[in-house]
Formats: sequence, structure tokens, C-alpha cells
Amino acid sequence: MSAQRPTPAEWQPIQSLLQAGLPQAMLAVGESGSLVGQYCDELQQVALCFAPSAQGLSCGTCRSCRLLVEGNHPDLLVITAETGKRIAIDAVRHANDFLAYTPQVSARRWLRVEPAEALTAAAANALLKTLEEPAARAHILLLSERPSQLLATIRSRLQRLSFPAARPGQCVLWLEGLGIPPAEALWLSRQFANRPLRAWQLWESGWVTRCPSWIDMLLSLPQQSPVAALRLADNWAKDVDLLLLRELMLSLLADLLRLRNHRPDSIVHVDYLQSLEVMAQSTQAISLWETLEEWIRLPESLAQNRNVGMMLETLLLNWISIWSREKVHGITS
Ligand SMILES: [Zn+2]
Repeated sequence: MSAQRPTPAEWQPIQSLLQAGLPQAMLAVGESGSLVGQYCDELQQVALCFAPSAQGLSCGTCRSCRLLVEGNHPDLLVITAETGKRIAIDAVRHANDFLAYTPQVSARRWLRVEPAEALTAAAANALLKTLEEPAARAHILLLSERPSQLLATIRSRLQRLSFPAARPGQCVLWLEGLGIPPAEALWLSRQFANRPLRAWQLWESGWVTRCPSWIDMLLSLPQQSPVAALRLADNWAKDVDLLLLRELMLSLLADLLRLRNHRPDSIVHVDYLQSLEVMAQSTQAISLWETLEEWIRLPESLAQNRNVGMMLETLLLNWISIWSREKVHGITS
């Protein structure tokens, strides 16, 4: 899969930073699967590269660049956490040792922590000491989806990087370039314009074919009884990826809010315009916002190891309760 490289104009702020001297403690903010991850790849590559271009991009051919492609660069350490898991203090202790050594190949040592909000409190405190007094030639880049969840003491040590925003049409062109048929590429890019890597992952997972049946079930649920919601929760708890369901719910709720604001041209699920329009006009915006909040907070609830089945029951019951006072009629997909 080919990466999306920034244009020289887009990369100008980063190039200025490279010329002025890269900060030792940096923060990049972006959702998972967004371009920010790829831009962080480019930044770490150019920071370690022997012969960066005048535009601040890596050469792609020097020893450092080749080692990075092989995933074998001794001056790069990446600490990651799986979804819902935390980064423990041992990983940070190891990283602190790594940063204390002099670089072996490049001019710097580079630590990347992703996502930074996954650090446990102990791990964050261990990292804080290194952020306060980083070794010479050590650089630390934290990637975060939700920087508000980082310790304030950590945030205050970091310089936030400003990466280019996605260009209009960039996502769909990239997806088509990877061989996705135009109709599916367009459909994915409507939902994930700012998160092309996420769109690609979903394409690979076969989500495009499963998604319509999920939407049908979710949109017909408010016309059914709470028992139907409980039954669906029971089924989905067994084999549905809750975070994937969350992405779908967030996009449906955003569409309902757009329709309440009379912006049918900007909705994602255009094939469901008629059903969504009926639903949007028979509820209050405040109920939609409250429901949106619940789904936004889902990863935190999951991280607390709550019972998935019960969480799903509550979420689906709350979803149908949006329309329970004013029953929706005539929803068809
Ligand atoms: Zn290079």
C-alpha cells in the first residue's frame, strides 16, 4: 500500500521546523487511520535521513531510509497499544533506556508513542521525567486521538505539530489508486474523508458488504419493541466489532443532525436519505447530541472492561428511546 506524501507547499510548516531545529518533545493529534500517522512516518524518516530534500522530505534511498523500510532501524523505537489496551510502565522504562544511548546510524534517536492516551498513569509519569530532561539528540513524538486525556504536565512539555489537512478528493483518488472500484471508493471516502487508512482497513475487512445490513437493522429498530433491541444486542455482542459499530452510529447520528440543520447535501448515507429525513424531523436535536455523546465515550467504557452485552443493550435501548415518545412511521430503506 503506497503512502500519501504531502506536497512541498503542504509540508512547508514542517520544513520550517526542520530548518529551525526539531523540538525534542512533540505532539501530533489525529484520529486513528488518518493521514497524521503517515505524516508522522514521513517526519521520523526525514529526521533520521542522511540526505533530506530541500523541501524537507526523506531521500528514500540512504542507509537510514532503507533500514526504516526494512523495519530495522536501531535509532527508532515505536511503542503502541492495541485497541482498548494500555501502555505499561515497563515499555516506557525500556524507551527511556533506549533514548539515553547515542544514535547508532542517524543523527538522532527517535521514540514514538501511539496512542499516547493509552499510557497508564505510572507509565506517563515515567515518561514525564524523560520529557523534562531529554538526552542530547533524543526526540520523542507522542500521537494522540484525544490529547485532553493526557496529563497536563505532559501536554505542557510537548510542542504540537501542524500537519497538512486532507485535500478535497484526496481520499477517493488514493483508494481508487489502490484498486477499489470507484463506487465503493466514493462511498468509503464520504464516510472517512479524513481517515483514508481507516477506509482502506475497512475495505480489506469486507465491511462494505456487511454495512448495509447493519444500517437496515439500526434504522428499523425504532419502529420495533425494546425486546427487538435486546435481541439485536444479544446477537451483536457475540460477533460484532463494537468500535466498528460505533463508527457507523457516529456517522448516522451526524447525518441526522445535518438533516435537522437542513443540510441534506452533506450527509454521508445518501442512499438512506428518505428514512433518515423522517427520523431527523421526528426527534429533538438534544436527544441526538446525548446519544452521540454516549457513543463517543464507548472506548473509555470498553477500557474499563464493562460487560459488552449490557453496554450494547443500553446503547440500543437508548437509540430507540430517541423516538419512543413520538413514534416514527413509514421508515423504509
Ligand atoms: Zn534518506
